[in-house]
Amino acid sequence: MAKIQRRSLKMKPIVAIVGRSNVGKSTLFNRLIGSRRSVVENQPGVTRDRVVADSVISGRDVTLIDTGGMTFGDAGDDIEMQVRLAVKEADAIVALFDVVDGCLAADHQLVRFLKRSGKPAVYVVNKVDSEKRARNLVDFYELGVDFIPISAEHGIGIGDATETLLPMLPNASEQDALEVDESIRFAILGRPNVGKSTLVNSVLGYERVMVSADPGTTRDVIDTNFVRNGRRYQIIDTAGIRRRSRVETRIERYSGYASIRAIEHANLICLVLDAREGVTEQDQRILSLAIDRGRGVIIVMNKIDLVTKLELEQRLSDCRQTFAYAAFAPVLTLSALRRTGLEDLFRTISMVNQNWRRELTTTQLNQIVAAAYEAHPPKLGKNHRQIKLYFAAQQGSCPPKIIVKCNAPGQLPASYRRYLERAIRNAVALDGVPIRLRFTRDIKGQTP
Ligand code: GDP
Repeated sequence: MAKIQRRSLKMKPIVAIVGRSNVGKSTLFNRLIGSRRSVVENQPGVTRDRVVADSVISGRDVTLIDTGGMTFGDAGDDIEMQVRLAVKEADAIVALFDVVDGCLAADHQLVRFLKRSGKPAVYVVNKVDSEKRARNLVDFYELGVDFIPISAEHGIGIGDATETLLPMLPNASEQDALEVDESIRFAILGRPNVGKSTLVNSVLGYERVMVSADPGTTRDVIDTNFVRNGRRYQIIDTAGIRRRSRVETRIERYSGYASIRAIEHANLICLVLDAREGVTEQDQRILSLAIDRGRGVIIVMNKIDLVTKLELEQRLSDCRQTFAYAAFAPVLTLSALRRTGLEDLFRTISMVNQNWRRELTTTQLNQIVAAAYEAHPPKLGKNHRQIKLYFAAQQGSCPPKIIVKCNAPGQLPASYRRYLERAIRNAVALDGVPIRLRFTRDIKGQTP
């Protein structure tokens, strides 16, 4: 019987920014995520559609959602729906108004809706960056709520807004925590139509009956437990979400809420792609959110029965290039419909799960770090000081967290950190899992 690790993974509260279009939701969102740009945004040419990002607000980890970045095809700019969804899924809301437009009927509606919902909300009037504009704030008293004047663009009042928001978030201790038991929990994620439901059915070996949620239930992630070759698995699936209405379903599928919840509940995720299509921003966003949360990741290219060998090779090479920042993620090819490649999928899931829980011995780690250091010591730091690494040890698993003691961690270039991570990965197979490598300052000690 596998060793049971009882640990818990903390969930991050979700904060949604809502309001009419052009009130400045994206500007505020960018201001709040600050320098923590998601990987998606570092891609050249990608400037729009930043919808979800992890951030730290006054020391609290949160997931921020900018509802304004979403467009829903023929559903149009249906604010009602965005807000309804935000209120259902988020732990707290930031409601944004625009001092230039003044207080409009839609703003009254929004306030009424939020008040009725009972969800904690901070009301913020944006674009207040001059005395003249500040005079228009009186308009907003008729909303009957306390509001905070800010300028997202100029960074005015942001502190006041976050100070007000912070106490509204669930206490870290009250929040759901995920118990890490021995079961292998994996989530099937990806864009609509890539074949998630088909894959889930193939994996389970039967057509999973759609769970029809009671009216009012808000479950957006469905778990199914099963046993295979004596191992317990739990498949976490966003595809099986019961469709309440066509519009809502579409929004829900694109919104990312379901993906975040699924990532939170999983040990590892399988990001499903369609072999006929390229990797999209949404795929990248999902992968970076999973990596950021320290979950194992596997990329699954589905529908290979529909492409030629040559096309598949091209897709795989594009995929590798786009996901260069996650080179540790295994890439599998399969056909969910024809049920080919499923054995390989299970083997990989089990391997990544094992790596995720991996505990390296201190001796082993120090040997790896010492060998890497000898082969390539870091360049001299400030004042021609030799940067030394003293000692390495694992400080936790799920995913592996490794600390390395160093006389001048601040001077260690990012390239050297990457080099050490590569050295560790080359020495011990850690495919599919992000490693948390941290350097702490230590002035004396032994060289590993
Ligand atoms: P989901 O929205 O990601 O859950 O996608 P579905 O599982 O509903 O699949 C979308 C469509 O792709 C359906 O018509 C499936 O039959 C088809 N599909 C899924 N996997 C495969 C595959 O491996 N090969 C082929 N040819 N079609 C597939």
